[in-house]
Amino acid sequence: MDSVFNASIAISSGLYACLLIYIQIKRRQLRIGRLWLSALLLLAALTDLLLIPLFDTYHLPFTSGFGISALVIGILGVYGYLILKEIRADDSSLSRVWLALSTIWLVAFLISGISGSTVGSGNWIVEAIQHPNVSALIFIGGFFVGSVILLGTALWSFYTASLPEIANRVLFWSVNCFTMLFGCFLLVSGTTLLILLGVITLLLGCTGVIYGSVTYQVIDIRNAFNRAIRTTLLVGLTAVMVFVALYITNGFNIPHTLEGILLLVVIAVVAATLYVPIRKLVELIINPIFRRNQIDAAFVTRQYSQQISLSVELDTLIGTIINTLNKMMRVRRSGLILVNDTGEGKVELQPMQGSFAELNNLSGVLYKKSPLYQQFATAQAPVSQFEIEYSPKYQTMLKVERDFFQSLHTSAYAPIIVEGDLTGILVCGSKLNDSPFYPHDLALLATLANQTGVALRNARLVSDLRKLNDDTARLNNGLASANQQMGKLDAVKTDFVTIASHELRTPLAQLRGYTDIMDALNESGMLDTEKTSGMIDNMRKATERMEELIAAMLDVSQLDVNAMDLRFASTTIETVVRMAVEPLTDAIKQRKLTLSARGLKGLPPIEADLQRLVQAFRNVVVNAIKFTPDKGRIEVTASLHTPETHNEPPSIMVAITDTGVGISSENIDLIFQKFFRGYDPSLHSTGTYKFMGAGPGLGLTIAKGVIEGHGGTVWAESPGHDEENFLGSTFYILLPLKSPDTVRRVAMDQKNLLN
Ligand code: ADP
Repeated sequence: MDSVFNASIAISSGLYACLLIYIQIKRRQLRIGRLWLSALLLLAALTDLLLIPLFDTYHLPFTSGFGISALVIGILGVYGYLILKEIRADDSSLSRVWLALSTIWLVAFLISGISGSTVGSGNWIVEAIQHPNVSALIFIGGFFVGSVILLGTALWSFYTASLPEIANRVLFWSVNCFTMLFGCFLLVSGTTLLILLGVITLLLGCTGVIYGSVTYQVIDIRNAFNRAIRTTLLVGLTAVMVFVALYITNGFNIPHTLEGILLLVVIAVVAATLYVPIRKLVELIINPIFRRNQIDAAFVTRQYSQQISLSVELDTLIGTIINTLNKMMRVRRSGLILVNDTGEGKVELQPMQGSFAELNNLSGVLYKKSPLYQQFATAQAPVSQFEIEYSPKYQTMLKVERDFFQSLHTSAYAPIIVEGDLTGILVCGSKLNDSPFYPHDLALLATLANQTGVALRNARLVSDLRKLNDDTARLNNGLASANQQMGKLDAVKTDFVTIASHELRTPLAQLRGYTDIMDALNESGMLDTEKTSGMIDNMRKATERMEELIAAMLDVSQLDVNAMDLRFASTTIETVVRMAVEPLTDAIKQRKLTLSARGLKGLPPIEADLQRLVQAFRNVVVNAIKFTPDKGRIEVTASLHTPETHNEPPSIMVAITDTGVGISSENIDLIFQKFFRGYDPSLHSTGTYKFMGAGPGLGLTIAKGVIEGHGGTVWAESPGHDEENFLGSTFYILLPLKSPDTVRRVAMDQKNLLN
């Protein structure tokens, strides 16, 4: 036994040496620090060497059992640091705490045991229970606490892992951790056979550590476990069948004759014939339990291509892609990311609506230099999220790129290449059964992505065409309404001629007529004072109308060249409204209208050109009088308007509402145009304040010019034009308390020019 033991230990130490050399060769690939790994291997090898004298007559200064126990603490200290750093990569504080604790543990153990310790010697555990001593207690206590910390952290990380692949990696480390702890415990068991088992277990554990640090994609533990159970069951079944056959032959006591051999053959054939269907039956039962992950690639590909070829619209295509992928790949979520080349050496990644409901507004970038872009566009190969996070190949990826893919919470990506260009990425995962994405899953996803390429290009073409179509339709509509506007403006211009003849010629004709009459009466000596004063009165009225018209035309021409001279001074809206309405009181009375005003008092003062603003308000009120039938109502309300943003100055809002004929929606913006009139002037009365009295179509143009000159705005609202039901209209005037600096400057400059 001793020689077997010694030989095993020698082999084990040799293997540690090999592992040491191996990590030197693979040093570039190591995920864990080379020094720490070397320390772990050296400590393990030293334990092996210390074990040899235990069974020799040769003795070291201290009992080797004690030395081995101290080394085991050292091994656990180093190992614990490594594994905690590995499974809790985002938080290195725990591994540092572990290092400090294990150092304290080692020092305490050394001090307590230097004068003699039973730990590691044969039967020490039983002895320690019967006669507790400090060093044994420190060792057992430390071992227990350490195991709880390491296994607890590993299991916690397993349950909180974001991806099945990461969970699998943590599971690997959990199994490895258990192996290491178990190996260490066996090493100090003090029983030869268990120690030998411990040597082998520790060697296995250390090999696992090296494997885990060299490769980022460790074996799928759960799958391996499943396969092991399945194989065990099948082997067990075979063994049972063979046993039954052997048992039967044994019972027959078959002689070694030709007949006997023939009988054996018959029994073997019967057993084999029975075995095949029984095995099939057992496989039928256990396969669905242990091989749940298997997907029929050919079936999936066929179904997928059938489904997506049915959709030509981008939206429905995306829906089909997502549904089919979810169902076929048995994943929780999947989606499509469109890739748009923005030039500048990068592409924009745009997750399609519906793919990731919560990420509708999210978009990412991928630089063309990025290893991930190379993988997609150049190698045209799929990649898993686990690889992005763990593979050294993607270590140089930028944080923005990494963050984008992490935020998708998916497991696998396959590029969609159309005519050599990366146009999209098919996204998938995680699986419903929480198993990792295997290379064959990625290959299947890549095949599906290839099929998606053509469908996606067609859908994009259709969507582009549709957009183009919509744009053209919108353009056509725009052109039609522009045409209509032009027509109306043209009519406005033509109106000018009518206005010139109607508005100017009527008073001119009156003047002419009265002059002729006066002349004739004068010649015939019939001109008396009464007649003369009546005619002169009419002539004055005609002259006044002409003057008014000419003044309005002059005002408008001033507005045209932006040359209206505004003189700002502090005043109140109340004053403005009062002065605007005062000269109209007679007309209001005559027409039996009611005019009321609300909210004018108590408003803060405004800076305004009083005369001009009064003119503007009067024009609006005159319209309200003109377009409201007798006995109608006109209401003026004012209020302080506090802006929503801090940049805007506070202002006063005045609303002038009437119960008149209203304005049709197509005219509502045109009424502020020069010479625009919403009716045929020849059909209406000519009196200034008469119902539907004709005007030159300049009142609102002037009002708008003046209000805008104050930095304000004016607009009208009305449910529509109706000369029977009188829907009414409201004119809103919004005036800032302080006119903007630009307006003031223009006004000042003009004042300077005039002076
Ligand atoms: P006008 O001298 O013809 O009154 P305006 O520029 O003052 O010219 O008004 C232009 C047109 O706007 C009017 O011809 C009329 O059709 C319409 N309008 C203005 N105010 C009102 C109102 N309060 N109700 C209905 N229509 C109005």
